[in-house]
Amino acid sequence: MQKIILSTNNEKKLSEIETLLHDLPIQTVAQSKLNIGQAEEPFGTFIENALAKARFAAKASNLPSIADDSGLCVDVLNGKPGILSARFSGEGGNDKKNNIKLLELLKNEKNRRAHYYCAIVFITSCDDPQPIIAEGIWQGEILSSPRGKNGFGYDPIFMDFKTDLSAAELDFNLKNKISHRGQALQKLKHKLRILYGE
Ligand code: IMP
Repeated sequence: MQKIILSTNNEKKLSEIETLLHDLPIQTVAQSKLNIGQAEEPFGTFIENALAKARFAAKASNLPSIADDSGLCVDVLNGKPGILSARFSGEGGNDKKNNIKLLELLKNEKNRRAHYYCAIVFITSCDDPQPIIAEGIWQGEILSSPRGKNGFGYDPIFMDFKTDLSAAELDFNLKNKISHRGQALQKLKHKLRILYGE
């Protein structure tokens, strides 16, 4: 079975990705298991940063790799926090501080529309000229206070339009089905199935 390295050290993301890929004829290995450090994410777009992470992991492991880059984009903030989602509250920040900062910025704001975006990249090697790229978008809005205990990141303050539940109130499987990452992974899977001749 083809081994593929998953380029993320975020345990929650890992389990979402591993769950969605489990029925493909591949064996996934988490980057964190191989002790190969973390890629820089210096670029201005999710796709470029996902490619940088995938290349870094493929180079260090000599394996094909899958990397995602994702974040929350708020309409009234011109797409921020965007590519800076993980680091929104600065060095030493965390999910809680990021949420507090965003709620504070939107304190008196009526337009609370936002979406999660995810770019997923698969490459067969670090110099693969033909990366497979898939994207997903999840529409919703920012709540005025946190709700729910599941998920990670901005999930307690992100409300899904279709269910009126916060992403942290959705159970794991439902989030995986409708989320930005879930949508991107479904598309990627379809393309991988063609590549691996399933
Ligand atoms: P990355 O690991 O560089 O892709 O940064 C992703 C960041 O975007 C996370 O640390 C979260 O702040 C945010 N994010 C991305 N996807 C999700 C999600 O599914 N739920 C909550 N926050 C997310």
